[in-house]
Amino acid sequence: MTMQCDLLIAGAGAAGLAAAARAVELGANVVLIEKTAAIGGATQYSASFVTFAGTEHQERLGYPDNGDILYDDLVRSSNGTGDPELLRAYVENQLDVYHWLVKKGVVFKDVVHFPYQTWPRAHHTEPMPMLETLLRDAQASGKLKVLFDCAATRPLVENGRVVGLEVLSGDQKQDIRATKGVVLATGGFGWGEDFVSTFVPNALKGVRFGHRGNTGDGLRICMSLGADMRDMGFVKGTFASHPVVGPERHEMVHAYYDGAIVVNKLARRFMDESLSYKLNLDYALLQPDHIGYQILDAKVFAKGLPGVSTNDYEDYHRRGKMTRHETLEELASAYDLDPVELRRTIETYNSDLAEFGYDRSWGRAHAVTGSGEVTPIDTAPYYVFPTVQVFASTFAGIRIDSKTRVVNVYGEPVQGLYAVGEMTGGFHGHGYMTGTSVGKSLVFGYIAAETLAGDIS
Ligand SMILES: Cc1cc2nc3c(=O)[nH]c(=O)nc-3n(C[C@H](O)[C@H](O)[C@H](O)COP(=O)(O)OP(=O)(O)OC[C@H]3O[C@@H](n4cnc5c(N)ncnc54)[C@H](O)[C@@H]3O)c2cc1C
Repeated sequence: MTMQCDLLIAGAGAAGLAAAARAVELGANVVLIEKTAAIGGATQYSASFVTFAGTEHQERLGYPDNGDILYDDLVRSSNGTGDPELLRAYVENQLDVYHWLVKKGVVFKDVVHFPYQTWPRAHHTEPMPMLETLLRDAQASGKLKVLFDCAATRPLVENGRVVGLEVLSGDQKQDIRATKGVVLATGGFGWGEDFVSTFVPNALKGVRFGHRGNTGDGLRICMSLGADMRDMGFVKGTFASHPVVGPERHEMVHAYYDGAIVVNKLARRFMDESLSYKLNLDYALLQPDHIGYQILDAKVFAKGLPGVSTNDYEDYHRRGKMTRHETLEELASAYDLDPVELRRTIETYNSDLAEFGYDRSWGRAHAVTGSGEVTPIDTAPYYVFPTVQVFASTFAGIRIDSKTRVVNVYGEPVQGLYAVGEMTGGFHGHGYMTGTSVGKSLVFGYIAAETLAGDIS
């Protein structure tokens, strides 16, 4: 039996649900297939910071941010390697998407500052309520059909155009045809062993965390049609995770953006802590056992944000992931660090700040790019968060254009085939601005719907 629709979307994370919700609003009949039994994808695990610039929320906090500043910051964060066409498309659509979500009832609570952000602009929300809102709204229209445990396996191609997908539900094969187009939103490839061993073997030196459904299926479908790829050489883990992580919960902390310092097993600092956590990982992987220890004093600890998973220091302490120590000697002993070396490291750091106003060893003058105060580590009690690499997002993949059309190796669009979200490349380039992964999924999901369903109603 063949099913028919206007738009066929594969993957029910932020990208697929944004595309589905917007497409039904524009009058399209949509079939959304999801390989697993539930919506959520990697989005459900995310710290759920979303990058927007020029929002009312920022205005209330006194941050005069706007799209032009965001664009410049995105160019900077990618070190000039992000595709200007994609960055521009993000900038031009992000405020519409923000207002669209807020109108639907999505709540953005805190706005947090991360590297490359001239103004704090990582808007924090709860991922599952956001996704459930998108699904509920789309289903209420009566125009959305969702099929769970249904995986896209191959493209259906007629006369050089993608007209649908071959899918697998259990052991049942089926064809689903779409008159307007097929949107792949199948997430990254963090659990695709072939991709990981080929492109990111270093990712295996640490914790792996992400959605088990994300094995790179959408990338394979695009590659089978000659799709070009972007940013594969820039795929990395991030330096943020506790070494012990359960399957359902990530344990990620970036207290160094609040002023914590990081030392290795030799009790020495080894990086500029204000760098993007995608970049500082390069330094961490050179350290003994690839481990670092984020050290907070009481002043840094007090900057924690309850309810924000990466910044809720109280919660990490309560759950035993972040340990508390009355003295530096006690701290050193708990982690088998040389107490004399640890004291020397911290005294050097503190005296440099006092004498020069910045850290001379690594040049850190601010907690995050260009702003945020760095203060001496001198006020007990001290806290420690042992930190290793986590491979959570893949930041790279299929080349698309600003309309989300998949582009082949000759620079031509693959007719009928669109891709959005984490499975696409070309946006982050060399670096990464926090909040642009969920942001990219929502914004380009929205753009795909506008592109494909725009002329239906
Ligand atoms: C721990 C963690 C923290 C993060 N924190 C942040 C953050 O704070 N800010 C930020 O911007 N980004 C963050 N990210 C990254 C971000 O969450 C993801 O990049 C983004 O949510 C991906 O959305 P997506 O819709 O593209 O993919 P996903 O949400 O992963 O959805 C993809 C869906 O496709 C389904 N699928 C896969 N193959 C098929 C198939 N063949 N057929 C049908 N369906 C299929 C999967 O099962 C999955 O449900 C974080 C990621 C992790 C893991």
